[in-house]
Amino acid sequence: MTDFVELCPICEAQGRKVGVIRRRNSAVEAVHHQCLKCGTRWVPRREAEQRLPLEIELRMEPSNTLDWVTGYLSPDFMRRPSVRVLDVGCWAGGFIKGLPSSWKKHGVEINAGAAARAQRVGIDVWVGEIQKYPGIGDRKFDAIFMLDILEHISSPLSVLKKMNSLLDDSGFLFVLTGNAACTAARIFGARWYYMNYPEHVVCPSAEGLAELFNRSGFALERIKPVRHYTSGWGEVGGKIKGRLLGGDRLDEKLALSRPQSFFDSVGLNLSRLLKGSDHIMAIARKA
Ligand SMILES: [Zn+2]
Repeated sequence: MTDFVELCPICEAQGRKVGVIRRRNSAVEAVHHQCLKCGTRWVPRREAEQRLPLEIELRMEPSNTLDWVTGYLSPDFMRRPSVRVLDVGCWAGGFIKGLPSSWKKHGVEINAGAAARAQRVGIDVWVGEIQKYPGIGDRKFDAIFMLDILEHISSPLSVLKKMNSLLDDSGFLFVLTGNAACTAARIFGARWYYMNYPEHVVCPSAEGLAELFNRSGFALERIKPVRHYTSGWGEVGGKIKGRLLGGDRLDEKLALSRPQSFFDSVGLNLSRLLKGSDHIMAIARKA
C-alpha cells in the first residue's frame, strides 16, 4: 500500500492517516484519514468506492425524527400553508410524511423498496443517487433536508453546489451529520465507531462543514454540535448487544461488527458509549 496522502474532500488541505481497522469477513480495511487544517475525517476514495456498493439495505426508522427536526425550525415557517420540501435520502418517508399535509413533499432515495413505501404515503420520490437527481424543472425548494446523508457522499462539495442550485433564494438547507471533532473521535481515532460504518466515507468537523457551505454558495445561519436523536441509552445498548451477540441485523450487515482485533472491537463499542455531541446540525441559506 502506498503512503500517498489524499487531500481533504472539503478544503483540499493535506491529511494524515489516523489508522486502519482490519475486519473479519471483509477484504475492505477501514482506513481513516483526517485533514490537518479543518479536521474532517474521510476514507480514501479507492476504499470509499469499495464501501459504497454496500449501499444501505436496512435502516433504523426512529419515530422521533420529526419532533427533533421541527424543534430547530421557526414557528412561522411551520405555519406556512404552502411549502415545497425535498428530503434527500428520504427512505420510506418517515420524516417528511409528518410535515404539514398542505405542503408539497419530494424525496430522493437510492433504495427502491423504501422509495416505493414513501410513494405509497404520498411523497413524490425520485429513485437514484442524489448526484443524478434532475430536480423538478424550473421550480425550486423552500427547504432541503439532509439527515444522516452527507457522510455517505464522497464528493460533498459537488453535491452541496447542486443543493444550492435546487434551493429557492429564500429557502434553507438543513443538515445533520457526524462530528469529526467530537470527544470520542479525538480519543478513539480510527476506532471511533462512526467512521467504521462501511458506508460512512466523509465526516466533517464544524469547521469543515462551515467551509463546505462557504465553498458551495451557502451562508451559515446556525451550527451546533448535538447528540443524534437516536442516542438514547436503549438504542445504544441494543446496538452494542447486537454487535457482541451477533443478533442485530442492521449491524450484521455492516462489516464493522467484526473487527479482527479484540482491542479494535472494544474501542469501537466504548467510543459509542462515550456519546457526547458526536453529530452536528446546521442550517444554511443561499449566500
Ligand atoms: Zn479539510
